Amino acid sequence: MENIEIARRLEELADLLEIQGANPFRIRAYRNAIRTIGGLTRPLQEVADEDGLTDLPGIGKDIAASIRELLDTGRLSVLDEITAEVPRELATLTRLDGVGPKKARKLWKELDVTTPDELEAAAKEGRVAALAGFGKKSVEKILRSIEDFRKHQGRFLRAEAAQYLRPLLAHLEGVEAIRRLEVAGSYRRGRETVGDIDLLVLVEDEDARAGVMEAFTGFPGVDRVAMSGETRGSVVLTSGLPVDLRILGPESYGAALHYFTGSKEHNVEIRKRAQKRGLRVSEYGVFQVEEGEAGDTDPSSDASSDSSSGDASSGAGPQAGRRIAGATEEEVFGSLELPWIAPELRENRGEIQAAEEGRLPALVEAGQLRGDLHMHTTWSDGRDSVREMAEACRDRGYAYMAITDHSQAVTVARGLTPERLREQWGEIDQAREEVEGIRILKGCEVDILKDGSLDLPDEILEELDIVLVAVHSHFDLDQATQTERILSALRHPLVDILVHPTGRLINRREPYLVDMEAVLQGALEHGVAVELNTNPRRLDLHDRHLFRARELGVPVVISTDAHRTAQLAYVEEGIRQARRGWLEADHVLNTGSWDELDRWLHRSKG
Ligand SMILES: [Zn+2]
Ligand SMILES: [Zn+2]
Repeated sequence: MENIEIARRLEELADLLEIQGANPFRIRAYRNAIRTIGGLTRPLQEVADEDGLTDLPGIGKDIAASIRELLDTGRLSVLDEITAEVPRELATLTRLDGVGPKKARKLWKELDVTTPDELEAAAKEGRVAALAGFGKKSVEKILRSIEDFRKHQGRFLRAEAAQYLRPLLAHLEGVEAIRRLEVAGSYRRGRETVGDIDLLVLVEDEDARAGVMEAFTGFPGVDRVAMSGETRGSVVLTSGLPVDLRILGPESYGAALHYFTGSKEHNVEIRKRAQKRGLRVSEYGVFQVEEGEAGDTDPSSDASSDSSSGDASSGAGPQAGRRIAGATEEEVFGSLELPWIAPELRENRGEIQAAEEGRLPALVEAGQLRGDLHMHTTWSDGRDSVREMAEACRDRGYAYMAITDHSQAVTVARGLTPERLREQWGEIDQAREEVEGIRILKGCEVDILKDGSLDLPDEILEELDIVLVAVHSHFDLDQATQTERILSALRHPLVDILVHPTGRLINRREPYLVDMEAVLQGALEHGVAVELNTNPRRLDLHDRHLFRARELGVPVVISTDAHRTAQLAYVEEGIRQARRGWLEADHVLNTGSWDELDRWLHRSKG
């Protein structure tokens, strides 16, 4: 069992204990343990094998025993006990904005409400507003968050799904008959969230199929098997992630990979293109359409990719006609006179035309980044010291980095006053001496106050090497006010980068209302770069905005916003998003050398 899954179980337990009204110290102990697990860079299994669980901060004997039980059996008896008493769904209610554990308990005890559906019904009948502690406003907020919840239900952050998937992939990689193994679908296209996983395996020997299917459905991390056929199986992992497996032969592997990677819209365009050439593309291959058959197929008619219904047959049958391609994706594209198109681009946003005209972008890669310009330390809400962050950045091979703790207005994150910021510079100066081979910039993530002014005086900002600005409060302003607030920050002559520009938290908080077109235009006019924040929960900017930034020529900075050294690895998530936004190295400011960045930091601003 992966760390993230163990943390999730413990979190569920802590939520249910809190609803039950258990001892607060016990609940806090679980929350501390969850935080520790979240920061671990090694698998708990490994720590447990070395008998080191109780050496971890915040993990005592009892919690260590729970972790062991999860690792050994996949179950947690305390969780089983408590769910006999407290309905498990209640943990979901506490995830809703405006419903904490105390309110969830009240809803359950007094209204017998345990699910979002029941809560919505009760709220609409006026029964919730009648409870003490729930006003009309809070009921409105709850109804809105139920709507959001429905939108996100069943969607996993891609980064989360990747962790759930990893042990299964490792398991299948050990199966000898499998020659190739790939994850298709929106996962392969690098979408920020995924609903389910489509796994494709290439098995040459037909007699080996049954064994491969058994290896898949028999994987210990499988919670239930929904279907198990000769070439297709479908399971749900203990994490709740649904996974489909398709077993393919060599002649159609590439066609299936293309077909199940999608997107649906991209596939429709591909089929139209094929039709014009007298060809038919399906999950089985590319086929020459026989005499008299052409014209009776509708390229947009069949369901594909994300819906994974799997039957692409149309017209004269899926495999009718002479097969001209299918073994590889390159072959499939080639048969349509196109170069291979990177999966991140397959959203029907002009990629087929770009491919045809030979102007597909040379998409940015993680190895091209020369530095990380947004991170936190123990000076605000980070966990590691300036020096630890610097060493970790140097170890990643970066040429430069920026320390950017919060400013004073963000009190929950222990934001820095001018005095404490100056104190921090002493520590950065020291790190500059001790950690060689990397430039350490003195920066700050300066809060944009409600009126659009900045949270630190100009004298201080002038002394910084780099100034980031961000919104951390008053998310509920109307669009015109919010946009003007951000634009006035961009007009400030000392501002370099607007970070996490829309403020969204994927599956948790919608972006605040802001006119991004106006913000990007403002950034262009005032010489400010925009951030692609690579925290998997943020991935802010969105790919469409990145695409627009590229079009306008607004420089993009890809930064992790790491709050501990391990999070510097979030860069991988961001690179995918950048590629979905068609970004090339030239569009990304921090692919430049130190000299180039230095020159930009000393630019004259509009
Ligand atoms: Zn921030
Ligand atoms: Zn930050």
